[in-house]
Amino acid sequence: EGCREAGGNMAARAEADAGGLCGAERPGAAGLTLLGLTPSAPSCPHGPALLFVKTCQGKEEGRRFYACSACRDRRDCNFFQWENEKVSEARLAAREEYNRNHQPSFTHRQNVERYENFVLLPLSKRRFCQECQQLLLPAEWEMHSDHQFQSDISAAQLKSPSQLLYPLENKKTNAQYLFADRSCQFLLDLIIDLGFRRVLCVGTPRLHEKIQSKASQEEDFRVRSLLLDIDFRYSQFYTEDEFCHYNMFNHYFFGGEASSETCRKFLYQDNGERVIMVTDPPFGGLVEALACSFKKLMSVWKKTEKEDHNNKEMPVFWIFPYFFESRILEYFPSFRMMDYQVDYDNHALYKYGKTGRRQSPVRIFTNLTPSTIVLPVEEGYRFCTICQRYVSSGNQHCEICNSCTSKDGRRWKHCVLCKKCVKPSWSHCNNCNCCALQNHTCEKTDAGCFVCGKAGHKRSTCPSLSGT
Ligand code: SAH
Ligand code: ZN
Ligand code: ZN
Ligand code: ZN
Ligand code: ZN
Repeated sequence: EGCREAGGNMAARAEADAGGLCGAERPGAAGLTLLGLTPSAPSCPHGPALLFVKTCQGKEEGRRFYACSACRDRRDCNFFQWENEKVSEARLAAREEYNRNHQPSFTHRQNVERYENFVLLPLSKRRFCQECQQLLLPAEWEMHSDHQFQSDISAAQLKSPSQLLYPLENKKTNAQYLFADRSCQFLLDLIIDLGFRRVLCVGTPRLHEKIQSKASQEEDFRVRSLLLDIDFRYSQFYTEDEFCHYNMFNHYFFGGEASSETCRKFLYQDNGERVIMVTDPPFGGLVEALACSFKKLMSVWKKTEKEDHNNKEMPVFWIFPYFFESRILEYFPSFRMMDYQVDYDNHALYKYGKTGRRQSPVRIFTNLTPSTIVLPVEEGYRFCTICQRYVSSGNQHCEICNSCTSKDGRRWKHCVLCKKCVKPSWSHCNNCNCCALQNHTCEKTDAGCFVCGKAGHKRSTCPSLSGT
């Protein structure tokens, strides 16, 4: 693709990074609006592209364009096309060729066969190339001779690929934040206690791995799982029935019909085996695109007949930061946010440390009855009989709001002027006519903050992110 497009794309990306994606989700803010997935969308190597438009004050400015659904950083995928652009046959052909060339070098089937051969090797011949993130067969050693590798890959290591693979670190595209074992175990115990027997893991490789390895080790462990993820490295460790290469921003199955059929079959529950979907998407925005894909997965579940599906939704755990609450509820009014703080291994900020705990902003959103989501009392959670849900220890029931109002786990205080509870560090400012940090600057900007929607600051300085 030519450089004019790359330039245009770059400007659009810079805009997106500065202002965040807003629009339909936040009228009035300046930035990019996601118009969604259209039937005639052109494709990049990541499946159908999404339609965007630059907006200011809720009004479209400039031409609509298509950009990659999965990558927000143009260095990862620089696909760009104006909505009404005429694309020549030659360019279409070149694009198809490009898309083909940018698929993984091995197919999933080939990776499964390679794995079967790999496990037959003696320990001393089992190598994993750290640069290519690939299991190596002896005939391939030569080609990777100047790469770093790990040797003696054990059966246990093959069963925990999320430990063997390095977490992808690209900040915008798909940074991988892996569950701390404490949180992963909590989720699995909860799922089992709630009586689920099938778990659709969408972007939760570590939960999938825990279920898979228990299923292979404990005879009476009945839970099954299927991983849907864009990280194709996992196809080296799981069969086509255990992993689908999937893009959750455009509901695209890279493996085509066979792969989406695997997912459909998995959601088809027989003999009373209940299904739950657990997803932990990248936090970089695009809530609307995610919601759209999840609705599609939920409708696949719904169409798997069963009379008792009438008026019911597929149970879901959507793991996401608390400051996205209003946006998630916009798309899923039946969801409620739980107080449980989800912790990660490799997230410096959100880690459950040895030296006192940093509060994680990540929560579970679910359409299950809140009172059934039992949170660990040993970690300080308690049951509020009025709210009929478990809340964090610092979350006090406010008599005026008649609700346990804290979102971040600290005790919030009620402001009579704002008629709601606010963060402990905030106080009412008569200038702004709302509560804010003591040292805030009373200035209005046209555009609301991307994160909380309030005026006066941008996403980078949003008080709800800083925990102050
Ligand atoms: N906490 C989870 C990992 C969450 S990180 C766990 O420990 O299991 C986000 C996950 O979403 C990663 O596995 C990443 O590969 C995946 N992901 C990122 N972008 C995606 C996309 N467009 N489609 C599908 N999966 C994606
Ligand atoms: Zn792309
Ligand atoms: Zn309460
Ligand atoms: Zn209150
Ligand atoms: Zn103020």
